Amino acid sequence: MSVFPQSTVLGYPRIGPRRELKRALESYWDGRSGRAELERTGAELRARTWRRLAELGLEGLPSNTFSLYDQVLDTAVMLGAVPERYRAAEDPYFAMARGTEGLAPLRMTKWFDTNYHYIVPEIGPRTVFKLDAGKPLGEVREARALGFETRPVVVGPVTFLLLGSALDRLEEVLGCYAELLAALAAEGVAWVQLDEPALVADRTPEELAAVRDAYERLGALSERPGLFVASYFGDLGEALPVLAATPVEALGVDLVRGGVPEIDLTGKTVVAGVVSGRDVWRTPPERALAALGAIRASRVTVSTSCSLLHVPYDVEAESGLDPALKERLAFAEQKAAEVVALARGDVRGVPVSLPSEAAPAPVAAEGRGPYAVRAAAQGDRLRLPPLPITTIGSFPQTGELRAARAAAAAGTLPQQDYERRVEAEIERVIRLQERLGLDVLVHGEPERNDMVQYFAEHLDGFAVTANGWVQSYGSRCTRPPLLYGDVSRPAPITVRWARYAQSLTDKPVKGMLTGPVTIVAWSFVRDDLPLRDVVFQVADAVREEVRDLEAAGVPIVQVDEPALRELLPLRRAAQGGYLEWAVAAYRRATSGAGDRTQIHTHLCYSDADEILAAIDALDADVTTIESARSGARILGAVDAFERGLGPGVYDIHSPRVPSAEEVEDLLRRTLRVLPAERVWINPDCGLKTRTYEQVEASLANVVAATRRLRAEL
Ligand code: GLN
Ligand code: ZN
Repeated sequence: MSVFPQSTVLGYPRIGPRRELKRALESYWDGRSGRAELERTGAELRARTWRRLAELGLEGLPSNTFSLYDQVLDTAVMLGAVPERYRAAEDPYFAMARGTEGLAPLRMTKWFDTNYHYIVPEIGPRTVFKLDAGKPLGEVREARALGFETRPVVVGPVTFLLLGSALDRLEEVLGCYAELLAALAAEGVAWVQLDEPALVADRTPEELAAVRDAYERLGALSERPGLFVASYFGDLGEALPVLAATPVEALGVDLVRGGVPEIDLTGKTVVAGVVSGRDVWRTPPERALAALGAIRASRVTVSTSCSLLHVPYDVEAESGLDPALKERLAFAEQKAAEVVALARGDVRGVPVSLPSEAAPAPVAAEGRGPYAVRAAAQGDRLRLPPLPITTIGSFPQTGELRAARAAAAAGTLPQQDYERRVEAEIERVIRLQERLGLDVLVHGEPERNDMVQYFAEHLDGFAVTANGWVQSYGSRCTRPPLLYGDVSRPAPITVRWARYAQSLTDKPVKGMLTGPVTIVAWSFVRDDLPLRDVVFQVADAVREEVRDLEAAGVPIVQVDEPALRELLPLRRAAQGGYLEWAVAAYRRATSGAGDRTQIHTHLCYSDADEILAAIDALDADVTTIESARSGARILGAVDAFERGLGPGVYDIHSPRVPSAEEVEDLLRRTLRVLPAERVWINPDCGLKTRTYEQVEASLANVVAATRRLRAEL
């Protein structure tokens, strides 16, 4: 067995430094270019990554970390898990990823505790596993033609099957992996990386037995490359001794999120993830060196804690950042260079960020008055009809508006002109809602590019990047803000727009804010303070904004927390502690409001039974939640809710306009489980991604259905 390279990364961004893949994909999907052009862009991006990593001095180059859409989907295709209904599609791969005219796409969900979304494998009784090793072999050959030997990266069998809820199919799938290993060995591949991040969450004894069986069996094969099983996003826990007892030659451990393995790993190579793939900060060398030195193994090599997929490409592409901040940053390129420097023992010149001495966050339970008192005061003030109709906040963002914002940012459109455009858009949205007959109006959020970035741009302690794109799913990227210092609010942020919107109408208008957990979850966050303390700083800024909205006469304030579940720790033992401070932060942000001010919150999912109690503990007067998209499953679990609740009646993820009958049916089902006086009527989520035409028709049907039911009350 050849020795494992001294330095490596577990994976690399693939969207392209200038989002070249995004453009190529969208052009292919729109029929503006052909398959060959898309393939060419992919090949260029792969070549560029291998060249760059080799130039930086990295010894172990990964391959097959590129994907046209998603690496889990690639694995499903490699194993033949393509559901029958997609096989006849013109392009089955993208049909599974995105759907076609007549076919819904496969389900998509978040990759562990990241903001990356993968395609959930659909494995059923009719799935016949059959290996197609074309992609991993193709990339090995492609790299070799450029002069690079690579280590193919594949999602491991246990994680793949757990993601597809089909661990009972292990035998069959292992047959495919055995064939894959033989094919790679025949190709002269020295090492293969099998990613098993599912092993850092709690696993049952049966699941651990599956891990043992899988790697005993693959390890026993005579025709195979060296086996490198990579774990990331936390500690292996009980899976560590299980893996250590198998013939696997190399184990990858995340030493940023997790600790140094406590057991002796003599006989193994430990691929030590000391450079974080989840943040954008330079690695303090002494921390990395201490971790490396504490591992007991036959060989220790240096790596990233996980794939660099979750960070942007290159700090050098940022010209607008404060040099003092830029100094502290490392994106994918810089992180790969850090791995090389650590492996060579050449770590001089890496500045160390010193932990700052911030005051500990307040932990006292924050609370408002009793709900019954608040409900009565709000009822008197708002005088809403039964089954009040509202929306989640955003209205369609038109191309003109985006162009105007870009022009204002570039300085080619005077700020005043831009603000007048925003006001015109607010007026249009208010008039539309009045015409449709909605009860609680919104201003439509036309001034916001994004619900987190907008606040980051207006709070101290944040910076935003020009090119710091990170893939969210498929061709979609986000540019997470950098939360690098103490957070504070220099001036009111949303008050002028809320006040303007309220001045246009006699109906109540909701002020619209993003909650502290979500602002932090969708940013890159400083690592010199506990996350909880950072969230509390943001909560204090939001609290000031809530108070200012209230003082401006805004009767309802919505504080969105769509990311509450995303930060939930992967291990159950840590979840209770997290939920406790997350809820406390939300209450801190909202509890400054008086009884007469109605607090709304919004969450974008409903399969949240595990955290339903926490959502309830947020103590919002009204909670709006996704429901229509998931077939109203939430209705089985909402009887515990004692305050206002709006299970969505319109799936905004689809361009489809729901009929009034469909909406009415959903409403009747809701009224069977919730008393009418607590039910709110709303879409599943914001309307930003829809067109005005779709929104107008859909909301008209929502209003018609609601009116029919009101007449029966
Ligand atoms: N208020 C936001 C909107 O309507 C909420 C978005 C979200 O939940 N992700 O766009
Ligand atoms: Zn939402």
